[in-house]
Amino acid sequence: MKVISILGSTGSIGCNTLKVVEHLQDVCVVALGAGKNIEKLAQQIAQFNPEFVSCEDEICAENLLEELHKLRVKTPKIELGEKGLIEVATHEQAQTVVSATVGAIGFVPTLRALEAGKRVALANKETLVMAGELMTKAARENKAEILPVDSEHNALHQCLRGESKREVKRLILTASGGPFRNKSKQEIENATREEALNHPTWNMGDKITIDCATLMNKGLEVIEARWLFDFAADAISVVVHPQSVVHSLVEMVDGSIIAQLGVTDMKHAIQYALTYPTRKPNCLPPLDFAKLAQLTFEEPNLDKFPCLTLAYKALKTGGTMPATLNAANEIAVQAFLDDKIRLSDVPKIIESVMNEHESRTISSLEIILETDAQARKQAIMKLESLEKTASANLR
Ligand code: MG
Repeated sequence: MKVISILGSTGSIGCNTLKVVEHLQDVCVVALGAGKNIEKLAQQIAQFNPEFVSCEDEICAENLLEELHKLRVKTPKIELGEKGLIEVATHEQAQTVVSATVGAIGFVPTLRALEAGKRVALANKETLVMAGELMTKAARENKAEILPVDSEHNALHQCLRGESKREVKRLILTASGGPFRNKSKQEIENATREEALNHPTWNMGDKITIDCATLMNKGLEVIEARWLFDFAADAISVVVHPQSVVHSLVEMVDGSIIAQLGVTDMKHAIQYALTYPTRKPNCLPPLDFAKLAQLTFEEPNLDKFPCLTLAYKALKTGGTMPATLNAANEIAVQAFLDDKIRLSDVPKIIESVMNEHESRTISSLEIILETDAQARKQAIMKLESLEKTASANLR
């Protein structure tokens, strides 16, 4: 039996992980970390019987007890907030920790899992964007492994199996191009929340779906790839591939290209990360070549999608700049989801926060947390001034 714990169990990746667990049958779940989705957490407890769970706060815990009582389910040990997530991440029995919370909240728990020498199946790319150096160092020093669950990086991991790094020329990340690939700059500017949430190929959570619409997701993934595989920014490129069948590619020094193809379902990458180095049959339909009319590729349009350029800039600057980019992006995306700003304001907010940030070397966890808090504050100030301008214009 393999024992796992899940950070972010009620989110999109968390739920898919539990479907994979159901399918594999030789994996059991010892701890679940969730936030506010108590109804779903209660159902997961009823089905998977974990020893330990974590939820956001006191009120959530009370609701959870009530739900479990209704379901007549034995109550596991319950802890709250970040402390709870850290316990999920470091649970003694867990060999693999699936890190699938969204955004910065998963940062410290994921770091603690690596320090505890766990295999981390990483879906939370923000943790590597914020502090890739710290994360990979913790993994090295504690003989912990990071297995990417992000589909592109999972593909790269598969393409790089058995290859010598010296013989690799560059990593090529594919991007679907999001819902606005064929839209004009003006259409993107006036895009509604619903249009931005309508991803053409992948079905994911709200934050990442907006990141796909701005191409920031690909930018974050470039930074993620830098840390996972230790390649410089110049050796990582992005190609738009609207069908999302080729999940990513590796170009070798002799010009050979190795690609990984598959169905667009995150369960594939999740299962790979849980069973690696073994491959097992999964519950997904096979890729049907007869139905793949065509696979197309094109350059990303940096003029329409400035977020990608901002991410490369942050990576090249290094230090605390990627953490600044990430924090400003989280605030801006949430503001867009709350109908407070336009989609085109997202890169503007990020850029102005980055312009005011002086990058520092990451020598400790505290520096990252400080940077994150500071950048959020700055981004909120930018938001407020945007809102003021907007309401003045209306008057
Ligand atoms: Mg991805």
